[in-house]
Amino acid sequence: MDLTFSESEVAFRDELRAWFADNDPGIEPVGDEDAHYHWRADFQRRLAQDGWAAVHWPVEYGGRGATLTQSAIFFEELGRSGAPLPANVLGLLLAGPTIMAWGTQEQKDRYLQPILSAEEIWCQGFSEPDAGSDLAAVKTRAVRDGDEWVVTGQKVWTSGAQYSKWCMLVARTDAEAAKTRPHHTLSYFLMDMEQDAVQVRPLRQITGGSEFNELFIDGARIPHENLLGGEGNGWRVALTTLMNERAGLAFFLQVRMRQLLDRLIAVAGDRGLLSEPLVAERLGELHLKAEVLRLTAYRGLTAIEKYGEPGPEGSLTKWMWSQTNQELADLAADLLGPEALTSGSPWAYELLRARGNSIEGGTTEVLKNIVAERVLGLPKAR
Ligand SMILES: Cc1cc2nc3c(=O)[nH]c(=O)nc-3n(C[C@H](O)[C@H](O)[C@H](O)COP(=O)(O)OP(=O)(O)OC[C@H]3O[C@@H](n4cnc5c(N)ncnc54)[C@H](O)[C@@H]3O)c2cc1C
Repeated sequence: MDLTFSESEVAFRDELRAWFADNDPGIEPVGDEDAHYHWRADFQRRLAQDGWAAVHWPVEYGGRGATLTQSAIFFEELGRSGAPLPANVLGLLLAGPTIMAWGTQEQKDRYLQPILSAEEIWCQGFSEPDAGSDLAAVKTRAVRDGDEWVVTGQKVWTSGAQYSKWCMLVARTDAEAAKTRPHHTLSYFLMDMEQDAVQVRPLRQITGGSEFNELFIDGARIPHENLLGGEGNGWRVALTTLMNERAGLAFFLQVRMRQLLDRLIAVAGDRGLLSEPLVAERLGELHLKAEVLRLTAYRGLTAIEKYGEPGPEGSLTKWMWSQTNQELADLAADLLGPEALTSGSPWAYELLRARGNSIEGGTTEVLKNIVAERVLGLPKAR
């Protein structure tokens, strides 16, 4: 891939840079999850007002029809400006593209616009207590009742469910045939979270925060028109979501990591640590890894351009990101000592939060299997 920006890409970058310069997000609220979420939602609203919330979406749906390179420029400039990542990240990167790929015209008209403006937040109801890496083991059931589906089951680790209006829900629609045809008996629903039959219970994380939740679903009703991609086709629709998750998040996450690395370099500089050869070497190594990750994410764009959708290469960037981010948090702890280990401090948060990086969005072991089998063509493990 040629990484030299064309004239139009430079113009796009400059326009965006000017927008970020004119739109100060204000001071980041620290230590208050709700305030932090509202800060991000407000900033997303401002992005949406000027057509910057989802540059990669087609113009007809409120995006800018940006090329993949322009989308990458967007995330890099967002990171450079220090602005927050949008609150409705799962809507913008996962639900929106999945609805565009599989939705009817009515579904596209109904759901896409409020995703952009952060009016309707989305969460991802895939994982269950006995179905994480093995999504085909989902037990939540949906039974047809006239024009509706009645859903019963439990989901877990549902990020942002406490703020969400909609859930991308994978459920079993043909329990009888589940044993013989596990992949063909799942369906994908757009579930309204605002009903008594859906209970959201926050899970307390090691950081002290509650980003994710348990969902208890006891007879929730979903209109038939909220089925996405047809009955029994949930596995294929879910794969679209997962591929977008790994590829789309690659840029998003590497930008967040770059912000953190720059902050650590600044702190080390303030304390006169940059002249220590060991510190300089470890920071240099992390800088190198961050750059490799950025360039690998760009290379992933080539695959999307070639095949029209994200490929298994996104698994590699997700795996590299989680490893590098954990090394970064460890180095911060080594450099800052007790300060990075004191409960409530921003660096302690990063250290503890990074533990989940190698689990969320696909565990490192599972991603290694995907890279081995589908990128390198090695024999299947099972
Ligand atoms: C911060 C965070 C946010 C999350 N947000 C969401 C969300 O919004 N929505 C959602 O649906 N889920 C979410 N998840 C759940 C996440 O997708 C799952 O945790 C993940 O898929 C792993 O599933 P599991 O926890 O059931 O572990 P399991 O699948 O039970 O895995 C247990 C262990 O076995 C290993 N393993 C499993 N299968 C294999 C294999 N075939 N080969 C080798 N090793 C294997 C795994 O690597 C792991 O170490 C989130 C998780 C975290 C940590």
